[in-house]
Amino acid sequence: MAAAGRSTREAHWVASPGMDALVRAWAEPLRLAGQLITHTRVTQIERDPLNATGWQVRCEGQGDTPQVFAGFDAVLLAQPAVPALALLNTSALSSPLNEALAKVHIAPCWTLMLAFPQAVRPGLTTLGPQWNAARSTHHRIAWLARESSKPGRSIIERWTVQASPAWSAEHLEDDTARVQDKLLKAFAEVTGIRAQPSYADTRRWRYAQTQQALGQSHLWDASQGLGACGDWCLGHRLEDAFVSGLELALAVA
Ligand SMILES: Cc1cc2nc3c(=O)[nH]c(=O)nc-3n(C[C@H](O)[C@H](O)[C@H](O)COP(=O)(O)OP(=O)(O)OC[C@H]3O[C@@H](n4cnc5c(N)ncnc54)[C@H](O)[C@@H]3O)c2cc1C
Repeated sequence: MAAAGRSTREAHWVASPGMDALVRAWAEPLRLAGQLITHTRVTQIERDPLNATGWQVRCEGQGDTPQVFAGFDAVLLAQPAVPALALLNTSALSSPLNEALAKVHIAPCWTLMLAFPQAVRPGLTTLGPQWNAARSTHHRIAWLARESSKPGRSIIERWTVQASPAWSAEHLEDDTARVQDKLLKAFAEVTGIRAQPSYADTRRWRYAQTQQALGQSHLWDASQGLGACGDWCLGHRLEDAFVSGLELALAVA
């Protein structure tokens, strides 16, 4: 997008510090050139009044400050399909993108992050099970991973727990504290870890896991200069986001 906002998946980065290092390095030349704008939400896309074939975007910066950035040849939407479609609709824009975006389905995910610093003692570096990651058939939990087992991570016992798409959807509007209590209980049932975590944080991602992907790497309407990319084009992983963004960039170039 012309402007990037606060990550909807921020908690993922908190759980995995350094995962955004690559993106930061790539963005560095833009930052140095004063052309990188963050913490800014695009609220509307419209034709540039000074150039009928160009675009301008209306944004809300920090503190909801309204801003307008103009003079763009193209607008590339690098956000989940649902808000991308909502942005096109709010902007009263119609292109082949609208119909394609409407076919994508992305499930929400409640995620619990836990840390047990008390587990780090001589002779006791892990709590609970002798495995580091698992798909779960528990009705609340779909996936768990021991973050501290990943290469290069601190040895402090940390877990990320992802609720199932169905349970997340059913409890999407529940209070965060209530969701955390339920996921903590489920975590104890799956892992046998009943110790009280020193740190627990629960985040909700409205658009977390692609259930119905676009089935092609990107969308690009060259006649209007509108494009879209994201993991949802091909799947739900970082590699999918990477390939999608790269393919869109190649199509535009
Ligand atoms: C809990 C969780 C754990 C995960 N773990 C892994 C993992 O271990 N390995 C893996 O490969 N993948 C993992 N993923 C998936 C991975 O995070 C995604 O595949 C990847 O982040 C998708 O990148 P993206 O650029 O398509 O979208 P996003 O990362 O969602 O980026 C979209 C960006 O657009 C911004 N935005 C949205 N609307 C606007 C707007 N109107 N104006 C301006 N900016 C806007 C958002 O703030 C966000 O920064 C995980 C996802 C979750 C939710």
